[in-house]
Amino acid sequence: MNHLSNSQINLYLQCSLKYKFQYVDELPKPFKSSGLAFGSAVHSALSWLNKQRMNGNSVSLERFYKIFDADWYSLKAENEIRYKAGEEEMKLTVLGKELLGLYFEEPYKKVKGTEIPFVVPIVNPQTGQRLGIDLEGIIDLIEEDDTITEFKTSAQIMDPKEVDTHLQLTIYSYAFEALTHRPPKLLRVIDFVKTKKPKLIPLETKRTKADYQRFFFLSGQVLKGIRSQVFFPRSGFWCKDCEYGEHCRNWGES
Ligand code: SF4
Repeated sequence: MNHLSNSQINLYLQCSLKYKFQYVDELPKPFKSSGLAFGSAVHSALSWLNKQRMNGNSVSLERFYKIFDADWYSLKAENEIRYKAGEEEMKLTVLGKELLGLYFEEPYKKVKGTEIPFVVPIVNPQTGQRLGIDLEGIIDLIEEDDTITEFKTSAQIMDPKEVDTHLQLTIYSYAFEALTHRPPKLLRVIDFVKTKKPKLIPLETKRTKADYQRFFFLSGQVLKGIRSQVFFPRSGFWCKDCEYGEHCRNWGES
């Protein structure tokens, strides 16, 4: 392995066995959960919209919906989507458009960048010690005043306290500061909540050097676990969306 990312760290912490199936064994996924597919289609449409705004192009809501339709369609064509009980494809499509419509109507600031890739070393901010591995990721949105935004789709409203320890935002902030040598003005999650009456919930926070130090130690422990091949099942509500159920059941048999 030559880098760490938010997805890798989060997955290792959630279930290290699933991490092994996905990143070490690279097992093919027989399906994609509707939540993941929906989130990807919403992200792609938002990225397209913000790119248009960054380039000063005016865009109609209808065109924005068409981009979402196309992304959603190609995801469905390329993957077997597994829907939750009671979930319907058509309802999800309508919900996606309602959520994107809410975002479209929101006032917005000038866009500095969207879907910005980064690669930075993981360094202890206090001692300068390097972990010896890079951190890679993609920042969803940076506005002209250096506000960094992460887009998130969820079935339930995010607990406001969670935003202060949310790993993705710590990583965004750390990477931004490593690249520009200044902290971002603000960190923000826009939570696209898939409730019956769809909602956009913005939550704001900041990070300090102490958060970066904690991240350094967390990454170090995760890396140690991966390199020592510490992989074991950790059951939870996330298992219902796990693509590796059969491999998991056979774990420990050979
Ligand atoms: S089914 Fe659950 S415990 Fe098993 S690998 Fe998947 S997430 Fe982990």
